[in-house]
Amino acid sequence: MSTKLELDAIQQSASASPTNGNGHKLTPTTLASASVQEIYTELLTRIGEDPTRDGLLSTPDRMEKSMAFLTQGYTQSIDEVLHDALFDVDYDEMVMVKDIEFYSLCEHHLLPFFGKAHIAYVPRGKVVGLSKIPRIVDVFARRLQVQERLTQQVAEAIEAAIHPQGVGVVIEAQHLCMMMRGVEKQSSLTVTSSMRGVFKTQLQTRNEFLLLVNPQR
Ligand SMILES: [Zn+2]
Repeated sequence: MSTKLELDAIQQSASASPTNGNGHKLTPTTLASASVQEIYTELLTRIGEDPTRDGLLSTPDRMEKSMAFLTQGYTQSIDEVLHDALFDVDYDEMVMVKDIEFYSLCEHHLLPFFGKAHIAYVPRGKVVGLSKIPRIVDVFARRLQVQERLTQQVAEAIEAAIHPQGVGVVIEAQHLCMMMRGVEKQSSLTVTSSMRGVFKTQLQTRNEFLLLVNPQR
């Protein structure tokens, strides 16, 4: 990896000769002041590609947009998502939303992990609008993540928003960093869970939830 000093040296030598052999204008810069697209262009070069060939010309632009989308959770908050979607109720039975599809990026390799989230809670006078539950998952999934933390953050967000009697979150996911890098666990599913309140203290509640998650097992 280039240090800032090396980049400054490149900058100085580049400003002495402002074009390369092909007549392309060099845009000398430091790592910190480089645009996202310049960084992706450099990345393509470093892995042995030619970023000026046809198929790659727009790739840095697409990578920037794609990365911004996949990490847009950093610009979102649970308060924004839930601000008009908390309702008072008398209902005190389990509320469950299952098979919520999600896509995230592992923070160790920046490779996708994806799967399904199953979320349940037992209200204490308040519920969350049902359509907001998948959005809570997305706020945290669209960041660099590890599956364990994603699971906890979703549970914590629901706990903090409506203070239910309990909340349970189960996430099942496949990790491309395991599947693509020759770990040879191609079809393995990683399952994580977070059980709080009555989901932790009452076996019956937890079992009801787990049975709803996996009725066939
Ligand atoms: Zn990974």
